[in-house]
Amino acid sequence: MPALVSASASSSSPGFARRALTAVSQWIDSDYCPDGAEKMRNEPDRVDWVRVMPFVVLHLGCLGIIWVGVSAFAAWSAVFLYFIRMFAVTGIHHRYFSHKTYSTSRFGQFILALWAGTTVQRGSLWWAYHHRHHHQHSDGAEDAHSPHVHGFIWSHIGWITSRRNFPTDYSKIKDLAKFPELVWLNRFDLVVPILFAFSLLGLGMALERFAPGLGTNGPQMLIWGFFVSTTALFHGTACINSMAHLMGKRRFKTDDDSRNSFILAIICLGEGWHNNHHRFQSCTRNGFYWWEIDPTYYGLKLMSWTGFIWGLKSVPKSILEEGSHADHHKSVAAAARSVEAGHQSAYSTLRHVVPAAAAIAVATATAARGELPKKEEPPAMHKDLSSEIVNPSSASAADTVV
Ligand SMILES: [Zn+2]
Ligand SMILES: [Zn+2]
Repeated sequence: MPALVSASASSSSPGFARRALTAVSQWIDSDYCPDGAEKMRNEPDRVDWVRVMPFVVLHLGCLGIIWVGVSAFAAWSAVFLYFIRMFAVTGIHHRYFSHKTYSTSRFGQFILALWAGTTVQRGSLWWAYHHRHHHQHSDGAEDAHSPHVHGFIWSHIGWITSRRNFPTDYSKIKDLAKFPELVWLNRFDLVVPILFAFSLLGLGMALERFAPGLGTNGPQMLIWGFFVSTTALFHGTACINSMAHLMGKRRFKTDDDSRNSFILAIICLGEGWHNNHHRFQSCTRNGFYWWEIDPTYYGLKLMSWTGFIWGLKSVPKSILEEGSHADHHKSVAAAARSVEAGHQSAYSTLRHVVPAAAAIAVATATAARGELPKKEEPPAMHKDLSSEIVNPSSASAADTVV
């Protein structure tokens, strides 16, 4: 892998010690870039082994189960913390900070950022910056984690270790960077995870003392609740970057290779409907139809009833119709294949011909719509995406079903 070659070559260069010192400083202050963040972002992909040590430690920490053992309470806590924090990844990092698909107060936004901070996926601003960049360049040369451009391993885990991908470009997320409390949490992105880890340690110690019947203790809760659950959470989330552009079906002809997958929708609480999402990013739900399970949306809907969040955005009627037409196209293609294969006898008038004729009629009527226009790749490496939050798709706001 070219990135690994670059990494080993860099270890013998005179600037290695300085880069290592910079990387250690960035463990604490992720905005520390003595040579300038823009220069870092324009470097070629290269694994920064010193910078990623906390990430390596997170994975190695899972081995702690050898020493702490397991209890039912600790194991179920890990499962619970996986899903409650997967909700934070999808409902907060993604559907709030990246796409602003609903609204909340400034205080509510801060609480959401704290919750999202426990996911240990860096700050919400870093997350949103990279995610908007992904949508702008999906499966193109500049997409930081396209499996088609960089391969599966790089899209899943490699890109997050690359030195060029560490800085947050605040100029591309001006709508978020205007809140100093969010910038602080993003800059010192280890604070919340460390507090969270120590809280679990303290909880386990308290349970050992006051509820010994549960059979758990501080170190066990730390290993299962933090290290195991967080590592699983990372890989579950990373599946959207890697697998959701490889596995599943494509309902919409987006100009990328995004897919819809039921399995990924379960693992990632609704994010598996990734092709839907790439077609229309600014609605709160990724499962566009009632049968597409989307637990994140159900949770956000519940939260909206409390008044903590509001203004959830529905799927525009035009997008739903476009999706149903796509299904008709599939029916027509399937019917044509059956006829070519000599299965005409299987076509009874009532069971097949009428629906097929209807599908052909609908497909013909909608053929004039043509394919979705190809996005133009902008010449600049990092374009300001703030404006795309308002209208990221060709569907008009007037189409939105309230
Ligand atoms: Zn994608
Ligand atoms: Zn998105």
